[in-house]
Amino acid sequence: MILSLVEHAGGSPEEPSLEALTLARELSTAADATLAAVAFGTESAALGDKLGDYGVETVHRVADERLDTYAPEARAESVAQLLNATDPEAVVAPGTDRGQEVLAHVGARCDLPMAANCLDVEVGEVYELSRQRWGGSLVEHARLDSDPKLLTAAAHEFSPETATAAAETAVKSFEPSLEESAFRVRVDRVEESNETGVSLGEARVVVGGGRGVGGPEDYDKLETLADSLSGTVGASRAAVNEGWRPHDDQIGQTGAKISPDLYVACGISGAVQHMVGCKGADNILAINTDPEAAIMQKADYAVVGDLHEVVPELNDALGDGD
Ligand code: FAD
Repeated sequence: MILSLVEHAGGSPEEPSLEALTLARELSTAADATLAAVAFGTESAALGDKLGDYGVETVHRVADERLDTYAPEARAESVAQLLNATDPEAVVAPGTDRGQEVLAHVGARCDLPMAANCLDVEVGEVYELSRQRWGGSLVEHARLDSDPKLLTAAAHEFSPETATAAAETAVKSFEPSLEESAFRVRVDRVEESNETGVSLGEARVVVGGGRGVGGPEDYDKLETLADSLSGTVGASRAAVNEGWRPHDDQIGQTGAKISPDLYVACGISGAVQHMVGCKGADNILAINTDPEAAIMQKADYAVVGDLHEVVPELNDALGDGD
């Protein structure tokens, strides 16, 4: 059996979990094994129908209400106990911060190795795999030789695909024994920070602003451009460090990974740590005063110019200028 960790919002599976499920199904087909999922919280009941489309035959539901909010150690302890009960061949988690964190805790608890951010996995007694390192700037070939095998699917590298034939899904309750100490790290409350509701990871258009923007008030013109393209605004770490934008807006190695149709990079030099976050963009338009800036070589389209002139002109052309 291949076991996949599924994160959900109110019973709807999240996109990275569907990506991971798609990889997990590939493994189950190659290994001629069944496909199961584990999900947490009282709202996980609705997942059965939805996951059947992805070929999941069994959903192990940990419905402890203390798991309604994120608690990494308690989730990991639940998975560790589920491994003992079900003996899967492999466990696949989404390549999200949470997926990586929970599976790393599982590995530590069970003394198992873990391969993070996998791109391609060849199933056998030993798994031969390639995986992203250094935020995706290197690809490592590795062998995973353990029982079970723990791995995460690199974010945005697998398109969620339903199974050719939907499975009849059985939802089973799993009740691990969880001490209160397993909840010492947990999410207490959640504050929504993106007023437009379009998250950076899902936006089809992202307008990024770097140090060249010059100050927090000058992001208004970037917001206008993003709004007229139904997109959202992001930032470089330099802009975040200056306090011009919140950390949630940061794109890069230590920020969000984006994969929009269009990324408009304004006043951003194109440091490798930034490019790691935006290399999934289909098209990059760079606006920079310096024709030698690294981003100008990496962009599909480049405008050499002052963003304070170019962006308002774009806004005018789109009919949204002041
Ligand atoms: P700069 O490099 O200062 O570039 C500003 C650009 O704006 C220049 O190219 C300049 O020509 C241009 N410019 C100036 N004025 C204008 C104007 N009026 N109009 C148009 N263009 C103009 N960075 C990230 O972004 N994300 C990360 O996740 C990240 N993680 C990191 C992790 C580590 C471990 C380290 C060491 C660094 C990390 N960095 C990250 C920092 C990264 O190395 C760069 O320092 C940062 O990306 C630079 O930001 P910037 O391009 O906005 O600023």
